[in-house]
Amino acid sequence: MDMSPALDQGYARHSAFPSAEAAFEQLHALELAGLDGRALLREAIRSVLPGQLASVSSFGAESALLLSLIAEIDPSVPVIFLETGKHFPETLAYREELAAHLGLTDVRDVAPRAEALADGDPTGELWYFDPDACCALRKVRPLDAALSGFAGWISGRKRFQAASRNTLPLVELETLKSGERRVKLNPLADWDAARLKTEMQARDLPAHPLVERGYPSIGCSVCTRAVGAGEDARAGRWSGSGKVECGIHRVTA
Ligand code: SF4
Repeated sequence: MDMSPALDQGYARHSAFPSAEAAFEQLHALELAGLDGRALLREAIRSVLPGQLASVSSFGAESALLLSLIAEIDPSVPVIFLETGKHFPETLAYREELAAHLGLTDVRDVAPRAEALADGDPTGELWYFDPDACCALRKVRPLDAALSGFAGWISGRKRFQAASRNTLPLVELETLKSGERRVKLNPLADWDAARLKTEMQARDLPAHPLVERGYPSIGCSVCTRAVGAGEDARAGRWSGSGKVECGIHRVTA
């Protein structure tokens, strides 16, 4: 298993906190009681899992809003950025700009170990021959290690983004291969593109510089292209390969 240098910085899980299952039940009950995604996010960070949640952000086209919502609740919530080594330089610059703009105090670059890269992708071309294996090497395994100290994580996925996400709940209970379980919050699951745009403008959030150049969804540079008029927002991700997800979002209970 990859062990990120950021791992040791994680909050130590403490027996005083509820299990992931118990936390999920609490949050699910709050959702059934009518709390929306923003209210659930606040409850999760402040009351249900304080110090036990991390956010995972690509610092992509729509990342700013979720990070802004988190920052206004608690800017010290850890934000994990998967440093795949294949990002656009614009994304790396935006990561710095946005973190400073929002006052985020704990953005963590999580990268694959050098030994894992040397073994699994010595030429750096694995993305071309086997993108699933490349995502596993550069994203999935480093994220698993980085999240091992947390009872839950926060995702910015939305239902409208793809058919594979159109039933996305606000709160999930994720089961890992190890049998370990984690809460996953999707506070923006039911937001649509128009609402996102309006809220981002109202908050005067800086935009990723590639958005105005035709990139509505931004991942690694070698696996992302600009999209044309009428194309799905995620059509430029792994274009032509049939791949639609990187693999960090797992089966849920
Ligand atoms: S998005 Fe592409 S380059 Fe990035 S980890 Fe996945 S396959 Fe590799």
